[in-house]
Amino acid sequence: MNKNELLRRIPKVDEVLAQPLVFDCFAKSGREAVTEAVREVIDGLRARILTVDEAGAAGFNPADLGLGAVAAAVTARLAEKERNRLYGVINATGTILHTNLGRAPLCREAVENVAAVSRGYSNLEYDVKAGKRGSRHDIIRDLVVELTGAEDAMVVNNNASATMLVLSSMAAGREVVVSRGELVEIGGAFRIPDIMAQSGAFLREVGTTNKTKPSDYENAILTREQAEAGDYPPEPDGAARFATGALMKVHTSNYKIMGFTEEATLENLVEIGRKHKLPVIFDMGNGLMVDLSAYGLDEPNVPASLATGIDVMLFSGDKLLGGPQAGIIVGRRKYIEKMKKHPLARALRVDKMTFAALEETLKKYRDAEVAKRDIPVLRMITESAETLRARAGRLAEAICGDAWTGEPGAAVTTPDGLTVRVVEVEDQIGGGSAPMVYLPGFAVAVTAGARSTQSLERALRKATVPVIARIRDDQLLLCVRTIADEEVGIVAEAVKGL
Ligand SMILES: *Cc1c(COP(=O)(O)O)cnc(C)c1O
Repeated sequence: MNKNELLRRIPKVDEVLAQPLVFDCFAKSGREAVTEAVREVIDGLRARILTVDEAGAAGFNPADLGLGAVAAAVTARLAEKERNRLYGVINATGTILHTNLGRAPLCREAVENVAAVSRGYSNLEYDVKAGKRGSRHDIIRDLVVELTGAEDAMVVNNNASATMLVLSSMAAGREVVVSRGELVEIGGAFRIPDIMAQSGAFLREVGTTNKTKPSDYENAILTREQAEAGDYPPEPDGAARFATGALMKVHTSNYKIMGFTEEATLENLVEIGRKHKLPVIFDMGNGLMVDLSAYGLDEPNVPASLATGIDVMLFSGDKLLGGPQAGIIVGRRKYIEKMKKHPLARALRVDKMTFAALEETLKKYRDAEVAKRDIPVLRMITESAETLRARAGRLAEAICGDAWTGEPGAAVTTPDGLTVRVVEVEDQIGGGSAPMVYLPGFAVAVTAGARSTQSLERALRKATVPVIARIRDDQLLLCVRTIADEEVGIVAEAVKGL
């Protein structure tokens, strides 16, 4: 069949629209979107035919021009267009707070409350009892106060915005003293010095990378009188200095300085702050609320840090707290009241969905055992080796079927040529938290004879529910710490599909 003959056979738009398969799409997608998809499919056919060489049909199957085939192509195209760009994946990396994979998964009650609250109207800014306007800041305030012992609390978009708001409202136009060893870059464009500049506060770096003493902070303090009188040693570039507005400690959550080191404790800073009547700020980052030292996690937690007497503390909602993306600020009422009234507070405020998820997550912390059981991030950190070994066994069995013996060290090769074994791995917390902590875990390791491990990893990412795996020693690792029990079957199917 030559080119012109093929072109003549392309169905008309109206003919395709009249096909029952296509017509049925109107209700869901709307007539306009369906018509557009029909045009795109027809244009695609025409373009393909035009590339066919004059001699005839080489590379083009005339059956593709049948009405049934075109209708099927249209529904496939519509399905492709309607696929969300944000969708669930299975995290088989063993890294619990994987920033690329959306950090903390939410607990069930949080997810259900998001749906319940956002489906209809809510009391987001309405005092139902009094019948008048309320404040969204009151929603979780009492709960955070109860859990942390703080005087007051507020929530903003994330911890980066919390840092902006805290510095802008407490220290704009003044210096904030920070240790050189704590000038953190969190990732992306979030660097403490840059945020400081944006906020209008001036960074006063003290100490050295590995050592900062309490006296370094104290020596950097400048009173308003000294600043105005120019009563300080000249700066290297001759610049004028500003009065000190606050002392700030930043938790170096994503790196550790080891060896010959010294840092001032929160207690040291509180003492200096009191003496000089300066507020002390702690950017804690990870939002750990319970003591996890039994699991190798020697990190400060929120209530213990606040108990040292610091004035304002800020942390993320979706790191070790295990809730939605948010920045939580706790501390003295006089500072938080000022933040609530700051123009930035409006720009950084969070939606009802965040409050809905955060409230349910925080409620779990009324009992540490409940938090460890129900909050996925804490459950994954505290899961026992036995639980993980058993889950790895179930995954291996789901892949291999009866051939799986379950014996320690067993390696089973499936009829499809996949060799499967259970191996020990070191999982990580991730999300820039606790970089030196390795949690002993288990994984199912898969190899496939001559086929490269990279190609297995790629293929798993293309599964119906993408599975994101790890590669170690040329083996594909499916780390079960971050695979939920109900996902084991899905991962097994994806592996069998290899
Ligand atoms: C993660 C982190 C931040 C940034 O928090 P986001 O919630 O990601 O904006 C800021 N400071 C510290 C110390 C952190 O660990």
